[in-house]
Amino acid sequence: MPQTDKFEAARLKMVKTQIEDRGLTNTDVLEAMKKVPRHLFVPRTYQNEAYNDYPLPIGYQQTISQPFIVAYMTNIVKPGKEMKALEIGTGSGYQAAVLAEIVDHVYTIEIIPELARESSERLKQLGYQNITCKYGDGYQGWPEHAPFDIIIITAAVENIPQPLIDQLAEKGRMVVPVGKPHSVQELQLITKKHGKINIRHLTLVRFVPFMRL
Ligand code: SAH
Repeated sequence: MPQTDKFEAARLKMVKTQIEDRGLTNTDVLEAMKKVPRHLFVPRTYQNEAYNDYPLPIGYQQTISQPFIVAYMTNIVKPGKEMKALEIGTGSGYQAAVLAEIVDHVYTIEIIPELARESSERLKQLGYQNITCKYGDGYQGWPEHAPFDIIIITAAVENIPQPLIDQLAEKGRMVVPVGKPHSVQELQLITKKHGKINIRHLTLVRFVPFMRL
């Protein structure tokens, strides 16, 4: 992973002003965000905007989330170094990379074949050996690797897919935007204790729609 690059100053400033100053204190998350070269996850034409405080287009009508939202979602699932995580909606691969800086292994699924190929290529080039990518509809999760301590869904669902709830480990944490497509959704934290689901309502967000094959 590149430790220094011409965007490093911008990246450190992003972490300070957009994340730390907004009250996020988890050092694992802050360190991960300082490390992952976000400018390499956006199209070349947007590289100079990569560290700005908003989402950016990544082609195919999809977006890479605003840096703060990535940090927020990573923080809320309380990542630990022994954990196994599942992400639905690889997109650029940025969220997967941030998470992979902290946890043991990230499994990630992307439904748009071109994005699945590009992100898997990018993550390989950047040296992430603890991320496994696959093309497909994330609705069914990834039963071969379940249960997952962490599940992050980065596309808006109207209802949380039952297979994903089933694949959440005991004491696991899932974060997911719930609501109608093309409107404001509610970010929810789903936890599982003694097999029972608890839902916490977090904040309002805007995500691209969850699609089906
Ligand atoms: N996490 C991404 C941003 C994701 S945008 C990043 O860090 O860049 C949401 C992504 O979810 C899009 O790429 C979209 O194609 C994908 N997606 C939507 N529905 C999906 C599904 N059912 N299974 C897998 N991926 C899906």
